[in-house]
Amino acid sequence: MQNNSEKKRRITLTSKEVSELIAEGIVTVILLLLLNVAIMVLFTQMLNNSPDLTDAIYRSKDIFANNLGSDIFWSGRNFVIPLFLVIDVLVVFWRLIRRYRQMQLRHIINELHYIANGNYDYRIPFELRGDLSKVVDSINGLVDSTVAAIEDEREIEKSKDELITNVSHDIRTPLTSIIGYLGLIEDKQYQSDDEILKYTSIAYKKAKQMKSLVEDLFEYSKVRQPSVPLNNGSFDMVQLLEQLAADFELEAKKKNIHIQVNTNENQLVMDGDTEKLVRVFNNLITNALKYGSEANLIVIEIEKAKNEAVVTVKNNGTPIPREALDQLFDRFYRVDGSRSQEISGTGLGLAIAQNIVNLHGGYIYAQSTDEWTSFIIHLPLYMNQVKSSPDNH
Ligand code: ATP
Ligand code: MG
Repeated sequence: MQNNSEKKRRITLTSKEVSELIAEGIVTVILLLLLNVAIMVLFTQMLNNSPDLTDAIYRSKDIFANNLGSDIFWSGRNFVIPLFLVIDVLVVFWRLIRRYRQMQLRHIINELHYIANGNYDYRIPFELRGDLSKVVDSINGLVDSTVAAIEDEREIEKSKDELITNVSHDIRTPLTSIIGYLGLIEDKQYQSDDEILKYTSIAYKKAKQMKSLVEDLFEYSKVRQPSVPLNNGSFDMVQLLEQLAADFELEAKKKNIHIQVNTNENQLVMDGDTEKLVRVFNNLITNALKYGSEANLIVIEIEKAKNEAVVTVKNNGTPIPREALDQLFDRFYRVDGSRSQEISGTGLGLAIAQNIVNLHGGYIYAQSTDEWTSFIIHLPLYMNQVKSSPDNH
């Protein structure tokens, strides 16, 4: 389908083109012969009409070595005729090559029309030499990059459509239930004040879910922009994570989960946008608390490796199925159990986390074994290691 798989072949001329070439050759030869004869006649005439010139030529007899006379030309044919012949052959050859090149160009243009008619998988397959080969290579390259750009555009379009579908679905579900419960109150279909309270509390919970979805979406679209400015500053990763772990302690305790930070470093000073990074770790810890079924331990590990900080947030408990691991970072993806368990979440947290880590020039991935479900983040220590990210200090 692509350029490489297309077998290169020479341009084969059609029989019409071959006849064109032959006709061109014949016409050229005839014209040249006529021209030769005309030159000969003219030259002979000139010599006959100008005795002075004849004299001069007589005098240069040595040069021509032949017996020159009024039929000087025929006497000089040993020299002149081969000269004419060489010139004629060169001219015929030049004309035919020129015509052949024109035909090659015509073939290329035909191929171009074919591609332009929508056959974007096709590439010009001709094996050519010289400049035309460069032209063909450039055209094929241009088509390749145009097709890639079109595909990228389609991909973006498609993912936008998916986003809209997902968002409308995820907004409609809580909205339907809000309208349902408020409708019950509106229609006075309740028996007691307690029931009103129950209905409003469900509606309230659903409204909060919608708010968090909209906030996540907003955050997601913000970090999706390729030119999001990072508010970089220097900070101590160890201190930041110990603080975060402390913030979650109460919530964890309620679920009988212990949170601990393991590191050999006293401090790990590095660059980054702390506000955004906190969002990443918040989501990882919240996830571990929410989805770590049968978990009783969350460990945050911090390591310094060469120019990187490696942070692992892991929890014990039931592992994530292997087939789900690759999709965790897709937006709106939630492992089946999380949906059915009715744990609130939008499935955007890890997509946002991945974008934020990428913006910092790092990467994130997940691993899950019987012992640990781990999310591992590699971040460059200093932003000047990252070319694409704006350096704000
Ligand atoms: P949000 O973070 O936007 O509120 P969410 O938590 O559902 O929603 P993500 O953080 O992207 O979304 O997580 C995606 C899914 O990955 C979760 O729904 C859950 O199924 C799974 N997951 C994430 N972390 C863990 C974990 N520690 N253990 C088991 N499953 C997890
Ligand atoms: Mg989450």
